[in-house]
Amino acid sequence: MKHKFLAKRNWNSFPSVLEEFTAFLNKYDDIINFTLGDPDFTTSEAIINPTFEDAKNGHTHYTNFFGDVELRDEICKYYRDEFDFDVKREEVIVCSGASHGLCSALEAIVDDGDEIIIHSPYYAPYIDMIKLSRGVPVCLETFDEEGFQINVDRLEMLITNRTRAVIVNSPNNPTGVVFSNETLHKITEIVKKHDLLLIADDIYGLYVYDSGQKQKPIMAMDGMKERTITVCTASKDYAMTGWRVGYTVAPDYLIKTMQSISENNIFTANSVSQRAYLHAIRNRKTVQEEIFNIFKERVFKVYERVCQTKNMKTRKPQGAFYIFVNIKETGLSSMEVARKLLEEAHVLVLPAHTFGASGEGYIRFACTVGMDKIDEAFDRIGKMSIFS
Ligand code: PMP
Repeated sequence: MKHKFLAKRNWNSFPSVLEEFTAFLNKYDDIINFTLGDPDFTTSEAIINPTFEDAKNGHTHYTNFFGDVELRDEICKYYRDEFDFDVKREEVIVCSGASHGLCSALEAIVDDGDEIIIHSPYYAPYIDMIKLSRGVPVCLETFDEEGFQINVDRLEMLITNRTRAVIVNSPNNPTGVVFSNETLHKITEIVKKHDLLLIADDIYGLYVYDSGQKQKPIMAMDGMKERTITVCTASKDYAMTGWRVGYTVAPDYLIKTMQSISENNIFTANSVSQRAYLHAIRNRKTVQEEIFNIFKERVFKVYERVCQTKNMKTRKPQGAFYIFVNIKETGLSSMEVARKLLEEAHVLVLPAHTFGASGEGYIRFACTVGMDKIDEAFDRIGKMSIFS
């Protein structure tokens, strides 16, 4: 938006399709909304109740600048217990969600004009996050025919003397793909060869539907600890989006720099939310099983219904809670299909060109609505002329 009181550099930035589509929500009162990456249920009482007690007992102050010490120790224990991987307290900082973790990490490593490679289709905010840190986003397209896996030859061709890091997001938003161990191994070889950093956006770690595809964190792969920044959050793996809490693991000098940056924008992460994250991690075995099963049932339901729908195609769900649907056979663009779904079926999805060039011809369903609504949405879609 252009306004005399706004900095000119912001006059043309931040166009948001999500915003445009959210505005449609008021248009009809029976919209089934598949756009939100926000689990549609309340955080478990096994997390809320002890957190409430902690708040009453005085956890209402600024915390340690790097984050609640008990939480950081619990995060270290988590990596030891789950992956037999050693993380030290000094290598962890608690952030206000993965968004804040990513922004502070970029702020810590990017000099003006440095390039950050992201694979496309990408999580849309990456572009502006990189630009806000005065970096340049460089897109590596991935394709359906290659299972949306990263082609490392094409990755290597994008590397210049300004490249600082590659962001890797697996399980992936928006494609729902989990990168194979072979792909990950090849990426780490390239990153090491060119002396780069890797930012691992590991926020959908819980959601891997084939246990054979479960991976250890990239930072635990050979020679990667010293060059990996791992970003995690309570948002998805514990259904805690509104608590705004996550963490970053990286070499201690990087964590120290991120802390200095955070001190100037958020001071410390929310103290009560940090206690909630502590209880979440401690209770993960029970809390996560329920969340995982709910999403697994939904993604396979959407998959099944998409497979039965004319002019829609998708691949078997691998991870995260998104179904990425190829609608090229309709002969229409992503935007045209998304608009038709809204107008004719009152079903809201995101047109996937918003996730980068190779997203054109796709729409994304976030499985954050219940089973009944999924069926109702696809019953309505089945009556549309382009899908029947
Ligand atoms: N990375 C990816 C890939 C995401 O999908 C999201 C949220 N949708 C984030 C980061 C940000 O998550 P948070 O809620 O922790 O800020």
